[in-house]
Amino acid sequence: MTAAGAPAVPPLRVGQGFDIHAFTDDPARALVLGGVRFDGEPGLAGHSDADAVAHAAADALLGAAGLGDIGAHFPDTDPAWRGADSIGLLTEVARRVRAAGWEPVNVDCAVICERPKLAPRRDEMEHRLTAAVGAPVTVKGNRAEQLGALGRAEGIACLAVALVAGSAR
Ligand code: MG
Repeated sequence: MTAAGAPAVPPLRVGQGFDIHAFTDDPARALVLGGVRFDGEPGLAGHSDADAVAHAAADALLGAAGLGDIGAHFPDTDPAWRGADSIGLLTEVARRVRAAGWEPVNVDCAVICERPKLAPRRDEMEHRLTAAVGAPVTVKGNRAEQLGALGRAEGIACLAVALVAGSAR
């Protein structure tokens, strides 16, 4: 019950996501972050396209909706997801979140890497991620200040938070 005259607040849930992938020297692997390909950069190792930003965003949305994690939905033992386009996975995650009665409100991603420079491609990444989720997705780049494996540019990590609202049923 709400106080008299107060608007009813829809149920809200937050979720967090994290992902990390190591760089590989396999020249066949392209670097894809937020659905954007960075030509001339080393790719990341992984079963899918290793898009750590799309994966963290997907995990945040699944967590917010109480739907588990990306590994349970798209097992890396399933050959169907080998080399998968992670923007497609993120689109499917948003569909599953809505099917469970939750509307994505927004997702915010913090990417931690020494390379590549994200700022020149940030708008492009946000556009692709936002289109996949159907709600605003923002991306920020952070350097690891030469600390640890990320600071030695051995890989890329991403943290994400998502907010979802209960859709009227
Ligand atoms: Mg991943």
